[in-house]
Amino acid sequence: MSAVDVSRTQVGIVGAGPAGLVLGHLLYLQGIESVILEGRDREYVEGRVRAGVLEQGTVDLLIEIGVGERLRREGLVHHGVELRFAGKGHRIPFDELTGGRGITIYGQQEVVKDLIAARIESGAPLLFGVEDVSPVGIESDSPLLRFRHEGQERELRCEVVAGCDGFHGVCRDAVPDGALRFRERVYPFAWLGILAEVEPSSDELIYCHHERGFALHSMRSPHLTRLYLQCEPDEAIESWTDERIWDELSARFASEGWSLKQGPIIEKGVTPMRSFVAEPMQYGRLFLAGDAVHIVPATGAKGLNLAVADVRVLADALARWFSRGDDSLLERYSEACLPRVWRAQHFAWWMTSMLHRMPDDRDGFMARLQLAQLEYVCSSRAAATSLAENYVALTDVPRATADQIV
Ligand SMILES: Cc1cc2nc3c(=O)[nH]c(=O)nc-3n(C[C@H](O)[C@H](O)[C@H](O)COP(=O)(O)OP(=O)(O)OC[C@H]3O[C@@H](n4cnc5c(N)ncnc54)[C@H](O)[C@@H]3O)c2cc1C
Repeated sequence: MSAVDVSRTQVGIVGAGPAGLVLGHLLYLQGIESVILEGRDREYVEGRVRAGVLEQGTVDLLIEIGVGERLRREGLVHHGVELRFAGKGHRIPFDELTGGRGITIYGQQEVVKDLIAARIESGAPLLFGVEDVSPVGIESDSPLLRFRHEGQERELRCEVVAGCDGFHGVCRDAVPDGALRFRERVYPFAWLGILAEVEPSSDELIYCHHERGFALHSMRSPHLTRLYLQCEPDEAIESWTDERIWDELSARFASEGWSLKQGPIIEKGVTPMRSFVAEPMQYGRLFLAGDAVHIVPATGAKGLNLAVADVRVLADALARWFSRGDDSLLERYSEACLPRVWRAQHFAWWMTSMLHRMPDDRDGFMARLQLAQLEYVCSSRAAATSLAENYVALTDVPRATADQIV
């Protein structure tokens, strides 16, 4: 879309991940102009394998805004997960514990592909491969996004900037020192993740506690298995041959009568584990959403869902402001999002703490506490319900009513 004149818009969106693309589409549906600036090329963005667990609220929204047709067809609906420890599996039945709710497995890259296709069809501007994006004058009424595109220096005048540019983006850093407060935990381990061309070994996700470290069995389709194993934060991926990965996964998942199906590994990567929140989520005319303003360790499967939940709130607030000049929802954007963000932070931290081998646990005290907690979660309906309701529906956002918006 390089030929499009993009010198002025209502909302300048930085980043074409789930947050930026869903926001752009919600605004388009409300008749609000936006321009999305993305640093990478389309192929890279559409091929980036990351999240895969969608909450019902996320699925409902994607269907409601017209980008859920393939998701409905190809998404795998799950009604439970397995917790595996001491070599035995225990199922947590989400549907039974939460009044019929479940999760849908559909790769983040597929969500992104669907959203990019909708954006392009709408004709609204989305520029890939932009460089050196710089938000300027965010405390003023008409902020500016400076950037380079196809070798040319460009300026985009906006009324609002949405920073949807992920954890390593530039928008959060555009806020003056001291205006945001950061709270963070970096975990002393990471995940080595693989994507393998083989049918999943189980119908549902398996979260596995093991003395050698945590492992997770997940999937992206009936023919693609996604597997993770706990590793060192600075793990050298080159030292992990395919054979070593399969041996390690098989050792951790070992359980009588169950075996791990193996196939060609088509993708490998190491993901650090971090909890992070910047508060408030706004400064002047800059509004931050998704990973740009909070990171959760992937154990709780909340990151993508939280990103979508943020931009739902933001889109409704912007719609009210642009249609009525009423900024009351916009002013309360952080206040509306942060309780949900902290609930998700707690759940992701709790799952992470319960399931990972703690490196400094010399006498095995932490491991014993983890096993006691896992036993409790799997034997008490109250404890299992707590896990289930956090897993399936934490980031549901009630839509603002039409009356609140217009
Ligand atoms: C291995 C892994 C597994 C995960 N599993 C799950 C899961 O099961 N469930 C779940 O809910 N979440 C999961 N997550 C988290 C989830 O992927 C993220 O929370 C989600 O991508 C956040 O979306 P976002 O749009 O906020 O940010 P991103 O997806 O990071 O998108 C940001 C976009 O901004 C672009 N960008 C960055 N800087 C600039 C710049 N300067 N200029 C222009 N563009 C820029 C980036 O290229 C990117 O396209 C996982 C993450 C990882 C890494």
